[in-house]
Amino acid sequence: MTTLDIAHDKQSTAPAGALTAPAPHPLRPSLVGLTRPRLMQALADFGLPEKQLRMRAGQIWNGIYNRGLTDFDGMTTLSKELRQTLAAAFDISRLEVVTEQKSVDGTRKWLLRLPSAVPGVPGPEIEMVYIPEEGRGTLCISSQVGCTLTCTFCHTGTQKLVRNLTAGEIVGQIMVARDALGEWPDSNRNSDDRLITNIVMMGMGEPLYNFENVRDALEVISDGEGISLSKRRITLSTSGVVPMIEKAGTEIGCMLAISLHAVNDETRNKLVPLNKKYPIRELLEACRNYPGLSNARRITFEYVMLKDVNDSIEDAKELVRLLKGIPAKINLIPFNPWPGSPYECSDWAQIEKFADFVNRAGYASPVRTPRGRDIMAACGQLKSETVKKRASERFREAAQPTG
Ligand code: SAH
Ligand code: SF4
Repeated sequence: MTTLDIAHDKQSTAPAGALTAPAPHPLRPSLVGLTRPRLMQALADFGLPEKQLRMRAGQIWNGIYNRGLTDFDGMTTLSKELRQTLAAAFDISRLEVVTEQKSVDGTRKWLLRLPSAVPGVPGPEIEMVYIPEEGRGTLCISSQVGCTLTCTFCHTGTQKLVRNLTAGEIVGQIMVARDALGEWPDSNRNSDDRLITNIVMMGMGEPLYNFENVRDALEVISDGEGISLSKRRITLSTSGVVPMIEKAGTEIGCMLAISLHAVNDETRNKLVPLNKKYPIRELLEACRNYPGLSNARRITFEYVMLKDVNDSIEDAKELVRLLKGIPAKINLIPFNPWPGSPYECSDWAQIEKFADFVNRAGYASPVRTPRGRDIMAACGQLKSETVKKRASERFREAAQPTG
């Protein structure tokens, strides 16, 4: 079995994070998404003298993250000769935008193409969503192409091809969104009035199965001399990869969201099969121990409302009982259907009853309004159509002579 074949064996018990297809190695590696120490290392390997490294890295960082430059020409603080040699060695271009859609409610969704690992075959695609609200704007970004997990209510979970995004591809999504929204500080907008105020890692993929790249990307995104989004405004959502939760707290330190969705193991095993490996008790124990947890930094528990599956008042009572003692927020998500989905969304009256109960227990306005449903941009509807085939099929096709 190749690594790719194993990646598609959803029964495999090996850690899914280790099973993804490799990202391509471009001829000119990208500097986007390198942390400052890595950027300095790349420049040192390139041959810049030691004493210039910090300054040059700062100039390049400024060009990429404050000015949104996509080539070295505009970095006029560097000599023309250096710009030319850097351009021959490195890439700072954008991910390709395949399509952009706008919902009637203002939500925007982009289909983005990543670089290809196989010459002649288009790279895999991911989706990204921007949700404007009064006084804030949230960008929902992806961490993997598809997902190795198989939550039965999630569209992404039905998608086979999986590869981890590089840190550059994770950061690259924000760069594309800033282009589309016209949000570079150099543009004529008032920079206090930001359009992307929050980032959620709730797009495609399980971020804790792509830990290093997610960690590095979030370090770049939160760097105060660049995109500068505070870790308090970045939320990582996980289906419950228990062994990685503490590490996420110490090495990333962003806000945490847990896709709980059920209050007993029997139901959660069906909805989130990863629960068979890391049951509710262990998951909540890891949450109690999440570094930095306090009433000011609560964990969000996501709970998708599925008709007659997890939406009774008994479920609500048990939810409140389970979360007792954990500084928590509850986010009830009306189920967003997708073609062929095996569930129905709970009736609105039932969602209200459930929400009322949870409200009375002290959790404020917990229902998340679905956004962008008309363009399939809502939670769990993301899936890039072109990667439905098994990777092995795609690779076989790529190997076929054409013409
Ligand atoms: N893999 C991570 C992050 C991506 S999913 C995770 O599972 O947490 C982001 C959120 O959307 C999760 O809470 C997920 O459970 C929820 N979701 C998935 N499919 C959904 C659907 N069809 N309707 C509503 N929410 C869904
Ligand atoms: Fe993967 Fe999250 Fe979807 Fe589950 S809900 S299949 S972990 S993206």
